[in-house]
Amino acid sequence: MGNSPFTPGLAAGRLPAKDLATNFGDLHPPLEHHEAVVAADRCYFCHDAPCMEACPTSIDIPLFIRQIATGTPEAAAKTIFDQNILGGMCARVCPTETLCEEVCVRETAEGKPVEIGRLQRYATDTLMAASWHPFTRAEPTGKTVAVVGAGPAGLACAHRLAMKGHDVVVFDARAKAGGLNEYGIASYKSVDSFAQKEVDWLLQIGGITVETGKALGDGLSLDGLKADYDAVFLGIGLSGVNSLRAEGEDTGNVADAVDFIAELRQAGDLSALKIGRNVVVIGGGMTAVDAAVQSKLLGAENVTMVYRRGQDRMSASEYEQELAASKGVRIVTHAMPKAVIGNGAVREVEFEYTKDGPNGLEPTGETFRLPADQLFRAIGQRLEGAPDGLTLDGGKIAVTGAGRTSLGGVWAGGDCASGGDDLTVTAVAEGRDAAEDIHAALSA
Ligand SMILES: Cc1cc2nc3c(=O)[nH]c(=O)nc-3n(C[C@H](O)[C@H](O)[C@H](O)COP(=O)(O)OP(=O)(O)OC[C@H]3O[C@@H](n4cnc5c(N)ncnc54)[C@H](O)[C@@H]3O)c2cc1C
Ligand code: SF4
Repeated sequence: MGNSPFTPGLAAGRLPAKDLATNFGDLHPPLEHHEAVVAADRCYFCHDAPCMEACPTSIDIPLFIRQIATGTPEAAAKTIFDQNILGGMCARVCPTETLCEEVCVRETAEGKPVEIGRLQRYATDTLMAASWHPFTRAEPTGKTVAVVGAGPAGLACAHRLAMKGHDVVVFDARAKAGGLNEYGIASYKSVDSFAQKEVDWLLQIGGITVETGKALGDGLSLDGLKADYDAVFLGIGLSGVNSLRAEGEDTGNVADAVDFIAELRQAGDLSALKIGRNVVVIGGGMTAVDAAVQSKLLGAENVTMVYRRGQDRMSASEYEQELAASKGVRIVTHAMPKAVIGNGAVREVEFEYTKDGPNGLEPTGETFRLPADQLFRAIGQRLEGAPDGLTLDGGKIAVTGAGRTSLGGVWAGGDCASGGDDLTVTAVAEGRDAAEDIHAALSA
């Protein structure tokens, strides 16, 4: 007999292949042409549009929606890509419910925003399906730039620099380019290898060489890059993971949620991936939700997310929390891990309830245990491997203006840089703006 959600311990193939295919299908199926026109017709094409203000990449949203309404989705896509070259991925992963759609006047008036994200996907998918790259390079400048990190920040920076006529080499430690678009974003947000297709499409600009398997600090040095290139951009993300600081954390089957998600994203066959019957995820952000939801979709019987503060403090949006609940994930708040219990492999996790006190979170002394045969840590990522000599601010690379670091000739952006809010779209905006600043510096 095969495995099922009730099989004890870790097991692969808890669900039939066809259920896995359904579970990991597109979360928001793309709009058909007529649906896109109907959705676009709901836009008031506001002057001083609040949606545009709320977009970290400042896409001219009313303009691109009007272009869809008038039957020119390729022009709409060009409007989007002018500001955000990863507009295809952002259409899939942006928490629009807390950005453009939250402030849409139709949301304010009627509680139902214009579906900006889905319209953006309709436009960008249309153009990308035509395999057309709507940008060309300026005359070669003879300048070279090294970009470290091929995530959204690095790719956006590289594309803008290539457009300006500079020659760019992008180095990445991993085997594939894309950063968390390839290794982090939940599978059901980016199906059909979209991340790699988008990288290939972006590179059509020309002038960008990608060298994977090359890590700064392991063969590459910042001094070396500074000597060999006219400028350096660092978009190395946050590769460290915070620990729980709970007793027994090194017990078997305790893992970082980001590693589990990366393994899942790279798995050729989801039915070969082992998952626990009782899975516990510790954390309250997007990573915790993604790990919990995907555990459930793989067939875990019980998945519980535990967060130390109240639900209103969770960094996962209300929409993400509802998504988790709708997939059967239980969310426990005001509890922090005390001990991981098990002989060789986790069997239970002990928690202590917390309460908000005048000086912050306080333990209450009241404890409880949850059965667990798999435990995922999702309590935040941190910068690891920042080159020596750079000033840090709050554990990230300190930047001023458009990504200028404390070292001349070195810029940084995306998750690894100070400020920002650890979103794909913000990383794109920072990479793009740093490229403009690098271009200005190289042209001076
Ligand atoms: C699980 C998870 C789910 C998420 N879901 C969403 C979502 O749904 N929506 C959203 O908007 N945001 C989401 N985010 C956040 C989003 O993915 C990041 O904000 C975004 O990817 C940051 O882009 P980046 O280019 O700064 O860094 P990254 O995407 O992390 O890319 C950094 C790149 O640098 C490389 N690198 C690191 N160190 C070195 C080195 N020493 N040398 C060479 N290369 C190096 C890495 O291999 C990587 O390719 C999620 C994050 C996680 C962890
Ligand atoms: S706020 Fe809403 S209605 Fe106004 S332009 Fe933006 S999407 Fe259209």
